[in-house]
Amino acid sequence: MNNDFVKNRAWVEINLDHLEHNLHELGKFISPKTKIMGVVKADAYGHGALLITNKLVEMGIEDFAVATLEEGIMLRKHGIKGNILILGYTNLDHLTYVIEYDLIQTIVDVHYSEKIKELDLPQKLKCHVKINTGMNRIGEKCDDIAMLSKIYENDKLDILGTYSHFCVADSNKEEDIVFTKWQIEQFDACIRKLKNSGYDPGKIHMQSSYGIINYSECSYDYVRIGLLMYGIHSATDSYTKYPISLKPVLSVKARITSIKEIFPNDSVSYGRTYVAKEKRKIATVGIGYADGIPRNLSNQNAVVKIKDHYATIIGRICMDQLVVDITECTDVRVGDIVTLLGENQNISAEEIASISGTITNELLCGLGSRLQRIEV
Ligand SMILES: *Cc1c(COP(=O)(O)O)cnc(C)c1O
Repeated sequence: MNNDFVKNRAWVEINLDHLEHNLHELGKFISPKTKIMGVVKADAYGHGALLITNKLVEMGIEDFAVATLEEGIMLRKHGIKGNILILGYTNLDHLTYVIEYDLIQTIVDVHYSEKIKELDLPQKLKCHVKINTGMNRIGEKCDDIAMLSKIYENDKLDILGTYSHFCVADSNKEEDIVFTKWQIEQFDACIRKLKNSGYDPGKIHMQSSYGIINYSECSYDYVRIGLLMYGIHSATDSYTKYPISLKPVLSVKARITSIKEIFPNDSVSYGRTYVAKEKRKIATVGIGYADGIPRNLSNQNAVVKIKDHYATIIGRICMDQLVVDITECTDVRVGDIVTLLGENQNISAEEIASISGTITNELLCGLGSRLQRIEV
């Protein structure tokens, strides 16, 4: 799209200095021998995968993780070099593309590995083996060495790594800490057994964002960093054992399109859920739920920022527009820029996600493709 139109209606601003700052802060919890794998799945959590990945490359990061084959191919087509691990499942019929684009596939379990044996692939499939230590999503059972050996003896595979995943590393509840420590023990024991049986597990890794801070005693070959490098916590009450000062990389902006006065008993938007009790000044903003502003934010006293003012969202959020109360905001004009997500506490991703009943990951991934991501 022609850049001239970027700031026409609504857009996403990306601050790459903040990305660098966040990685520097996270680096304090990572041992020097451990490499960073930048997790850029789901269009880099809505931030724009190319913008983010190119910056990571510039910072010397050589390893990336995506969720899908298509995401990996997109990066390669745009010239991204280095290792790209697909964290999710790839249909067996499409594994030739994994090879063609020099990607690395996750082996989701023994069944998958056995099916690969039957394929006629042009060369060995580069892969990391996923070990299930209790998340029970993908991964082969950690304690069944007989099953695991079937994977490690599969000569269709070029096994470069072995990994697992935490499911409660962001909690400080006693039972969750016990569970996570148990996962670590299971994983370590599994790696030991593999080595004792003469298999090479390759690079090993387990921690993602919260695992890095809350279980910093681990020191594996990689850490897989997603959310926290984007400078956003999972929720308002996410737990980190040590303080960390992060800066959100992303902000969402839109323009005021119309300003009007309404009078007692006038209603606003679909369903007439907001009815004025007195004379109010209101402004329409050109952004809506098609852009990823959650409709659940309607009538929850959520705010947006306009210059130095906070203005409350009133009535139902529409597909492409929403309305805010600007009675208290002097000096606001049509065309002014409104910030809907950004650095300030009241409009932080954590706060907005909390009000709309979700976590920041979902909020960020839901930001519409209609919003162009621009670097600031
Ligand atoms: C998404 C994902 C990550 C990144 O997690 P964050 O909490 O965002 O850092 C790491 N590993 C796997 C397997 C994932 O699916």
